[in-house]
Amino acid sequence: MKKILIVGQGIAGTVLAWTLQGLGQDVYVMDAPDQQTLSASQVAAGIINPVTGKRFAKSWMFETLFAHARACYLQLETQLGVQIWQDLRIERMLQQPEELNNWSLRSHAPDFSNFLSDAEQTSQWQPFAQPNHLFGVIHHAARVRFETMLPVFRQQLLLAGRLIQQRFDYQDLDKFASDFELLLFCEGYRGNSHPLFQHLGWNVTKGEAFHITMEGNEGLPSSEILKKGALIAPLEPGKYWVGSTNEWTFTDALPSATGHAWLKNNLEHMLKTPYQVETHLAAIRPTVKDRRPLIGTHPQFPKLGIFNGLGTKGALLAPYWAQHFAQHLLQGTLLDSQVDIRRFSA
Ligand SMILES: Cc1cc2nc3c(=O)[nH]c(=O)nc-3n(C[C@H](O)[C@H](O)[C@H](O)COP(=O)(O)OP(=O)(O)OC[C@H]3O[C@@H](n4cnc5c(N)ncnc54)[C@H](O)[C@@H]3O)c2cc1C
Repeated sequence: MKKILIVGQGIAGTVLAWTLQGLGQDVYVMDAPDQQTLSASQVAAGIINPVTGKRFAKSWMFETLFAHARACYLQLETQLGVQIWQDLRIERMLQQPEELNNWSLRSHAPDFSNFLSDAEQTSQWQPFAQPNHLFGVIHHAARVRFETMLPVFRQQLLLAGRLIQQRFDYQDLDKFASDFELLLFCEGYRGNSHPLFQHLGWNVTKGEAFHITMEGNEGLPSSEILKKGALIAPLEPGKYWVGSTNEWTFTDALPSATGHAWLKNNLEHMLKTPYQVETHLAAIRPTVKDRRPLIGTHPQFPKLGIFNGLGTKGALLAPYWAQHFAQHLLQGTLLDSQVDIRRFSA
């Protein structure tokens, strides 16, 4: 059994901690919320979407990652006694000839047949959506309730005396490296200023989202997401998450007027029902130039590892790659070269 410290309790640190605990390791987690800003995991809706982008491309390794994610979050659900996983459908609003054409091509392609249905006139969202659209359904989508799972897991760590509520100071690396057999950094975008891991092809992006309410409307969908320029996901009756912007240049991690305008504009193109913006949120995603996770131990300091770079898809990626990393750490299996940090040289 190894004594392991995980730094960061976003979705990456939480799923890695849980995976290593499940493999019988002696796991501690250090995390202190930033006073001024939110983490990506606090802002994300936790949506898993199999088919994304203008060309409706299937997400990388989707079938394998989805099966792992579902199994992991359902086990966590049982263990923590709260609802974490929700199976959902995505109703994709289609209007332009090019998108209708792309949709038709994809929905008839053999490896998409389980995922996409023909575009239809009607939909659960139709009474609330802007007219003159067709609706194509994306199946095998889901939502992982980060907002429930992370605080409950944190509380369990606290009760077990395994939560260290402080920020990791890199000047204490030697001290912690003597107290623990492994130090695993799951610091989200802040990993880009870690002295040993800042060379890893980071390309962090800012994202902004709204929580909106549309109360008093009978029949508002509770298990369908609406997607066009933005994505509208049910949170609880009458309450929806709307997101998100994707900005490469920014000066802070706070909600901005530009982000607000982008979200409003996209909502106007999607909804005809009145809504109220309850909250405007922003955070920085740990995105990487090649859009693949960052996993591995430092070549010179093998006690120090990183599990990061989950980018825009933390919910889908975390379970499979946490298991993969855990096997590497405990049994010495090879890391997949696509995620191995050695693809970036110092
Ligand atoms: C607007 C928006 C919408 C998104 N929507 C989705 C979505 O629908 N589905 C999806 O899968 N993903 C989504 N994402 C992406 C998702 O949020 C990320 O993939 C994921 O949250 C990254 O998790 P993480 O644990 O790596 O980082 P974070 O969530 O940033 O967590 C890092 C944690 O480490 C802590 N920390 C950092 N440094 C230290 C230190 N030195 N000492 C102690 N603690 C430290 C931080 O305080 C934080 O708690 C979205 C992101 C944004 C911004």
